[in-house]
Amino acid sequence: MAKKNKKMKVNLEKKTSALHSTNELKPEIVKKKFELTESEIESIVKRVRIKQLLECGYSYSQISKTLDIDISYTTISNCKNMQWSVSSILPKKSTGRPSIVSKETQKKICKMADSFLQPKQIGLSLKTPLSKSTIRRQLLKDDRYPFVSKKTSKIDDCHYRDRYNFCNEWKDKPLQEFEKLLITDSKIFLLDGGRNRQNKRYWLKDPEDVPNHELLKKKVGLHVYGGMSAKGLTPLIFVEGTLNAERYLNEVLPIMVLSIMNRRKKKGNIDEIMLFDDPKNFIFEQDHASIHDSNIVQEWCGENLKHFLNKKDTPAKLDDVWCIERLWAIMTQNVYRDPRPKDLAQLKQRIENEWSNISQATTLKLVHEMPLRMAEIVRKKGGRIVSLSAQCLCDRCCQARQI
Ligand SMILES: [Zn+2]
Repeated sequence: MAKKNKKMKVNLEKKTSALHSTNELKPEIVKKKFELTESEIESIVKRVRIKQLLECGYSYSQISKTLDIDISYTTISNCKNMQWSVSSILPKKSTGRPSIVSKETQKKICKMADSFLQPKQIGLSLKTPLSKSTIRRQLLKDDRYPFVSKKTSKIDDCHYRDRYNFCNEWKDKPLQEFEKLLITDSKIFLLDGGRNRQNKRYWLKDPEDVPNHELLKKKVGLHVYGGMSAKGLTPLIFVEGTLNAERYLNEVLPIMVLSIMNRRKKKGNIDEIMLFDDPKNFIFEQDHASIHDSNIVQEWCGENLKHFLNKKDTPAKLDDVWCIERLWAIMTQNVYRDPRPKDLAQLKQRIENEWSNISQATTLKLVHEMPLRMAEIVRKKGGRIVSLSAQCLCDRCCQARQI
């Protein structure tokens, strides 16, 4: 664009600050010659329009929409401070870093973000360095957001192999086999829970203004046990104090596992209906907590249950397969929704309510996702699932998605 680079001579009359002085009757007018390129003039026009729209009360996004051009929030916010004076409107010396990016560069930026590079590093590794905020804007445009990494336990080579073998054996089993699973787990709901300090970002100028995240001195919360099948849920069991294997056998397993064998209702509350077509023929799953793996618990399961996944045959670290982890995530989101529970009684009430509000469509979807999760683990040779994009394509899941 040769036309753009052509220097244009523009005469501008610059009124000095004397204009604002009341003592001066005849403000001194200084004639000054400016040389502006066409793009600089464009920039002036753009900033003046932004300033006008700001004064009319337009929001940042409305301005972006109205002008229909690629404007950064920083540009708009700079215009906010711009004065209606020539010196303020004239273009400032640029840093030389372009803020508008070609499609090719945009692709490069996204690729680097995929390999976990930070915006600052990305900006510096480009041929023409770009600022951190330009990179962030490009990433936002690509529907990417700054996320904090999830906490997971480390998987070693041995786990990779066991995970691979277990998932490989299970992944092609028919869905009916997965519908026979009773997947159980425990979860602690803290009174102060549901908030991840790292996830909340405050967009302020001064770090001193960031509100404190107050922690309760003593961790107060409720410990619950629960289980799920494709059809519904076990009752929730609240455990007080420290649990040991004996208490687990006496207080948790009879309610969570034995009681469901007597269920006959096909319709009704999700935590009271039949969980399996044959209520005695199900496969019990529990994680590898030391209590669950203890000899007396393993023996009890062998004696009282038709099928159970014993500690020897089931690898540890399969929390990205067992769908109850997803159910806890849904519960956490609902339990701590505003207004947050303020004391233990409210917390308990909320946990119970949200448990009974889980729908059969949810339990079915989560159970049917398991073979897909296993296939993904096999594809990753035992590695962890980062994100699962596959969906169950069975008639029931497709139907549930349309509602
Ligand atoms: Zn399905």
